[in-house]
Amino acid sequence: MSLENDLRSRADNKCELCGATEDLAAVAVGPESDDSAEKSILVCSTCSAQMGGTAELDVNHWRCLNESAWSTEPAVQVTAWRLLNKLSGEAWARDLLDTLYLDEETLEWAQSGRRLQRMKTLSSTRTRTVQCFQLVIRSPSSKT
Ligand SMILES: [Zn+2]
Repeated sequence: MSLENDLRSRADNKCELCGATEDLAAVAVGPESDDSAEKSILVCSTCSAQMGGTAELDVNHWRCLNESAWSTEPAVQVTAWRLLNKLSGEAWARDLLDTLYLDEETLEWAQSGRRLQRMKTLSSTRTRTVQCFQLVIRSPSSKT
């Protein structure tokens, strides 16, 4: 319970993403979340449902990131950065991503959840690409 209290005092009893004051709860910011306030954010049920994938992303709701992405809390920055990447079909979200500055450590944290997944898909595509190249290179030389 003290985690939520810590977050509530940090966030001034408001959703750290959209500023709502109802239905607030602590959400861990992964992938290696402990139960510390540094790796958690206080969000409302609207935000957490969309973050967790139980509700569809409502583009207009996330315009709140125009403000909250500038939070000084790394956990909020990381969450905003990840959401903006999901919303990168929107011009304003891309613009905001371009102007945001995350320090190296925070950026690594923001990317770390996706990296594991991407490495898996990358390695299988890469193998295929390499095999294709070899075929292309080999076939003319084998004729001569
Ligand atoms: Zn919210």
